[in-house]
Amino acid sequence: MHLARFPRRRYTPYLTPIERLDHLSSYLGGANLYVKRDDLLGLAGGGNKTRKLEFLVADALDQGADTLITNGAVQSNHCRLTLAAAVKEGLRCRLVLEKRVPGSYDPSASGNYFLLKLLGVEKITVTEAGADLNAIMEEIAAELAAEGRQGYIIPGGGSNPLGALGYIACAEETLQQTFDLGLAVDRIVTTSGSGGTHAGLVAGLHGNSAGIEVTGISVRAAKGPQEEKIHQLAAATAELAGVTTPLPRDRIVVTDDYVGPGYGLPTEGMIEAARLFARLEGILLDPVYTGKTAAGLIDLVRKGEIGPDEMVLFVHTGGSPALYASQETLLD
Ligand SMILES: *Cc1c(COP(=O)(O)O)cnc(C)c1O
Repeated sequence: MHLARFPRRRYTPYLTPIERLDHLSSYLGGANLYVKRDDLLGLAGGGNKTRKLEFLVADALDQGADTLITNGAVQSNHCRLTLAAAVKEGLRCRLVLEKRVPGSYDPSASGNYFLLKLLGVEKITVTEAGADLNAIMEEIAAELAAEGRQGYIIPGGGSNPLGALGYIACAEETLQQTFDLGLAVDRIVTTSGSGGTHAGLVAGLHGNSAGIEVTGISVRAAKGPQEEKIHQLAAATAELAGVTTPLPRDRIVVTDDYVGPGYGLPTEGMIEAARLFARLEGILLDPVYTGKTAAGLIDLVRKGEIGPDEMVLFVHTGGSPALYASQETLLD
């Protein structure tokens, strides 16, 4: 792999830290837990989409686009970060927000929804759950073209092979850091959502023959279809990056045990995890992604599926701005 061949914008002028979760590791009485602080990536509020946008926005600029178009749920971190990248590049941004969680749309909401307005989004289109988001983004692009403008469509979550290169870069950064720190990591635990993060990490570790297991915690889809989707995206991402050995299907492991009643809906485990990370480590999780992922991490340690001597790296993919729209759920 030789990622320097791809056009890239830089939004994080440093490596995100790897820290030991001392208090959480001793509280759980087992496993050697570390965190990769991708919540500290650049652009407003940080989080995993920043890595994907480095490649996606570089491509948009190469194509001469003047407006970024993307979609997400009404509290989307991805939409916030896409808009922040647009602001930084002097582009405009149109967003399609899906009322994916019943009753979740509140035009006076705090959290990411407030930040979209503060960051100066050009226009938001709010749709019902299940709407054809790709078709709506195409319509917006056509509307812009009719005005002599040029839109660039970024898929939901930035999860196409080009965006997922950002997590190949993260895999390589992590291998270098763990080598410097002398940490022989056995397993990485990450959220598995639109998939670019999970797929990019697997592709990057495979391309480096690293032999580190990756456990993906689903926050929405069932295990079978999610594994299939991640395998396809990881294979396409590895191919784009120039990896020539096929990616075995069994490198993709997803658990859907921590989704609870559905995407964005709270679970007991999520609430416990968000409180434990805050109160033991001073780290803010989010209610939709990292809270459920950390709930999975904690439960797998408690059940012994993650062994007491395993060295585990939890990828903190960000999302804390969404906390400010979930106070009632998270406080006692
Ligand atoms: C989007 C998001 C994820 C999921 O990442 P995918 O690449 O979409 O699977 C995880 N955590 C946070 C905070 C996110 O915003």
